[in-house]
Order: sequence, then C-alpha cells, then structure tokens
Amino acid sequence: MARTRTGLAVVALVALVALAGTTFAEEEKLFYDTRKEIPVEYRWNLEIIFPDIEAWEAAYESVEAKIPELDAFKGRLGESADVLLAATELQYDIGKSFEDLIVYAFQWQSTDTRDATANTYVGRAQALGARLNEAASFFEPEIVQIPDATMAKFLEDPRLATYDHVFDNLLRTKTHVRSQEVEEVLAGSSLLRAAPGQSYGFLTNADIEWPTIQDENGEEKKVIPALYYSLLQSQDRRVRRDAALALFGTYDKYGNTFSGTYGGLVQKDVWMAKTRRYPSTLDMVLDQTNVPSSVVETLVSTVHDNLDAVHQYIELRTKVLGLEDFHIYDLYVSMVPAGETTYTYDEGWALAMEFWKETFGEEYAAVAERGHNERWIDVYPNTGKRGGAYSAGSYNSVPYLFLNWDGTFEAVSTLVHEMGHSVHSYLAAKNQPYHDADYSLFVAEVASVASESLFFEWMLDRTEDPTERLALLNFRMNSIVGTFLRQIFFHEFEHAAHVMAEEGNPLTKESLGNAWGDLWLEYYGDKVTLDDEFKGGWARIPHFYRTYYVWVYATSFAAGEAIVGRFRAGDETAVSDYLEALKLGGSVYPMDAVKRAGVDMNDPTVIRAVMDNFRKILAEMEEILVEE
Ligand SMILES: [Zn+2]
Repeated sequence: MARTRTGLAVVALVALVALAGTTFAEEEKLFYDTRKEIPVEYRWNLEIIFPDIEAWEAAYESVEAKIPELDAFKGRLGESADVLLAATELQYDIGKSFEDLIVYAFQWQSTDTRDATANTYVGRAQALGARLNEAASFFEPEIVQIPDATMAKFLEDPRLATYDHVFDNLLRTKTHVRSQEVEEVLAGSSLLRAAPGQSYGFLTNADIEWPTIQDENGEEKKVIPALYYSLLQSQDRRVRRDAALALFGTYDKYGNTFSGTYGGLVQKDVWMAKTRRYPSTLDMVLDQTNVPSSVVETLVSTVHDNLDAVHQYIELRTKVLGLEDFHIYDLYVSMVPAGETTYTYDEGWALAMEFWKETFGEEYAAVAERGHNERWIDVYPNTGKRGGAYSAGSYNSVPYLFLNWDGTFEAVSTLVHEMGHSVHSYLAAKNQPYHDADYSLFVAEVASVASESLFFEWMLDRTEDPTERLALLNFRMNSIVGTFLRQIFFHEFEHAAHVMAEEGNPLTKESLGNAWGDLWLEYYGDKVTLDDEFKGGWARIPHFYRTYYVWVYATSFAAGEAIVGRFRAGDETAVSDYLEALKLGGSVYPMDAVKRAGVDMNDPTVIRAVMDNFRKILAEMEEILVEE
C-alpha cells in the first residue's frame, strides 16, 4: 500500500567537512552533526503531511477504527454493485490515509535513524499496515469468484466504472486462480514462502561479522555490503582489492548457507508456477507485470550481440588505468581521477533549473520550483541520516526528495533523477484519482532515467574542454554499465538458477558459483581475471529475493533513452507526449504508458539504441584518451 519509491541512483554518504581555516567565507558546509544546525530552507517540511504528532495519532486512530468496517464486507463482494462499490471505496480510502501515516514516520526516521521515537512510529505504522493487509486479503479471491456476466453488469454502474483498470488488472490473470481449497493452501504458505528472504536478511544484516581492511590512510574500515561501490571507487588499487576480496571471501565462506536460502526461494517459485499452471517461473512473473516475454528476450539478445563493445571497454579501462591484468574490482573506478567540477547545492539547483526550463518547459519547471519553495527537499547529510537518495511521498501530501548532497556532479545528476520521480508523482496525483495514480516500477524509472540522461546530453553540449567531457562520458558509461548491463547480467543469473531448478538440477554453492563466474567471463571477456572469491558474488544481491525484478531497470533505462532520442531529434511533440505520459500515472498498463511518450517497447530498436549509444560514448572516450 505504501507509495514509497526508492531511487536507483545512490549517493554514497560521505562525511565531507568544509576545510578549516579556509579564506572563502561562503564555503558550503557539507555535513552537519545535528539537524538543528542546518538552515531551515535545506530541510524538508513534514508538516505538509501532519502539523504535529497529535495529528498523526488522530489519523492512526481513524484508520484503525475502519478495520471492522472492512471486515463487515467479507463474503459479500458479489452481492451487488452497491456492495462492491462501498467496499472498494472503503479500501482505497483506508489506503490513502495509511499512506500519510507510513510516509510521515518513514521520512522522519530517514533523517535520523537513531531516533528511538521515530523508530517506534515506523514500527507502529508497519504493524498497522500488516493488519490492514490481512483485513483486506479477502478482496482478490472474492472478486475473481464473481461470475463474468455479473461482473460485467456491475461495471455498467458509472460509479464502479472508474475502477475499470483496477478490476481489469485483477481479472486479467483469473485463469491462474485455482479452486478455493488450493487457494487456501497457497495463502496459508505465505510465511513459509517468506522464510528464505528473511534468513538472508538476518544472515547479512545481523549474523555475519564483516571483515575490516585498511583504507587509503591506513585506518581500519569495516567492509559492509553497503560500502561496496564506494570502496570500488578508490583510486588506490590495494584498497579496492582488499575490500573486494574481504567482502566476497565472506560471501564465499558462507556459500553453502546462501545457496540454501536462495535455493529455497527458487524452489518456492517453481512450486508456485506449477501450482498456478504457468509454463515457467519467468512466464508467471511477466504475466503479473503484463509485459510480453519478447521484450525480455530482446533485452538479453541485444546485449549478447554487443558484448564485443563491452570487451573493448574493458580493454580501454585496462590501458588507461595502467593495469597488467584486469580484475573485477577495476570495473567502477573513475578513469578521470582529477579535475572534477564541484557544485554548491545552490549552484547545482540553479543549473538543474536552467536545464528543466530549457528541456521540459514551464509546466515542469513550475513543479520543481514549488518543491523548492514549499521545502519538499532534504538536502544535506547529518549524523544518523540514512544514506542514498530517493523520492517518496503520499497522494494527499507532496512527493518529497531525499538527498545527501556532496557537491559532486553525481549529486546534481541525482537531484535531476529524483526530481524526475517527484514531478511524475505530482502530475499523476494531480490528474488521476488515488486508485489510478500509483505507477509501477517499469514506468517509474523511465521518467527518472529520461531526465537524467537528457541532463547528461545537455551538459555535454555545453562542455568543450576534453578533460571535462571525459569526466562526463566516464560518468555516463558507469551508469549504462551499472543500470543497464549489470541488471541484465543479474537477470540472466536468476534465469539460469530457475532453469536449473525447473530441470531438476540441484542449486549448490558450486552450481550457482559456476553460473555466476561464467556470466562474468561472457560479459566482460576472458581477459578478466576471475578471483576464486568472486564466485560467491551472486550472494551479494538482495534483489534476487524479489524474483525477476531486476530486468525492469534495464527496460526502463532503454525506454528512457528512447524518449531522449525523440527530444534530441527535435521532435516537436516530444515534450508534450512525455508530460501526458507522466500524467497517466497507473491508469493504464506500463507498456501503454510508455507508448504515450512515443516509445513502443515491442520495437527491438529501442533496446538496441542503448548499446549504439554505448559504442558512441566509447568511441569518443577512446579518441580523447588516445589524443592525450
Ligand atoms: Zn529512480
């Protein structure tokens, strides 16, 4: 129920303290000990949701009081159009209010994860959410039991017709709903089915003692999974190597347990697909998203057709970094260590605003401006604040932006990415009723990727200096590798594991490790040296516990890039089509929303364009580096 969207772009939480004794009076402070020290205009205003905690309590009580009302509809949904309407309205009404409760508590906690009171409120909201889910669990099974003719008659009522898409989506997969007896068994297994993911979480977050290494300054640093990418950015290869081997060595050490938890999850998927009468686990998941399997097939085959360009990229990295042999921990470090431009938040904001106005026009820029004036944005890191960046809000309030500004170009790019989500949510909420506003992940990342990518092109157009261009190109390359390629790689691993299980082969530390290792060599080329520890690398990916979830990032990326293509080609309706697509929210299926922006995901050239772009960027990087 919660409308909580987490941005993919992650800004590492870096505690950068303004240089002491600096002569610049205007030096930007980039880290605060307490939130009170942060000037109010850089802190978000949660009072837009609730003026005070008493208002939260009152809303909580009113939601809780509605649970018995929901119960009263149990077993009655097929009675009449009136009953179905009243129950549906009640359910969405509760959902909408609940969103305010959870978003408020979660945002509060995000700004200080050590705050025990905030943690209590999050816990209370989550527990209430679980009770609501349980209370509403009769909805879906009851609705699919309503005979088609009766349902069609109900939907003639204009008051119910507004829920068209909601019901259509629910009834679409009706043929895979089994008898009541079978459904009861399936429902009763929900806690069992959650066990693999739970064990994985306990193991990685609580039980495993992560090792320490010495950082660049010789200080002890604990290598926790969340620090993986920031450690791999180290220009000191010894730090990268020690960090990677320490981390992956640990996954490898617990490899049997990890293959046990993941194997359990895969077996659960296979069992569910069989019970629901799907030909495969992949078919089951794609049916839920309502995306044809050809889209995913094109995704995989396009990447395979272009792996030579990826291998060429690895060769360039090897050469520029001056390495004799390329290891996996050399994949993300910048090839342009010096000369990165820095921005104060105000400068970054002004730059982004110029970009929004020029690229998307006044309507879009006005939403961003409102966000600024009404304080939707939490800018600076402080002690206890969660890391990363995201956009999240509730239908009744505003789409907040959570940042950890560190003054880099990546920070500006992240602001543009998250604002893409926020403008999307804002326009969807303005133009759709609550039940049609929430959009799927497939559509969500399209908006953010398109704006981030347009921003990159816009910056590139304005940059003449070869070193600065190289820094931009390097940044862009990392994002194509990280968001597009890597997610398809992950998808292939998931698919290999599920096929192994479907064919009756055991999932062991060895079989999963070999599948992972083979993919590394296939994707990045056989010039890559694969350290033994890396075979346990698959265990690092928590997304694997949401089956077949990662490919969506790659398709969204491709769709975003295709929209960029329309903008760049000077297509006159590109902007208006894009804004209209955002306004659709979740009122249509994901493929149709993207189509409104002028992109047909059935067209394989959409996906091929990403790899064409990869080649173009690679060529310019090679040119600049060879000239130097
Ligand atoms: Zn995002």
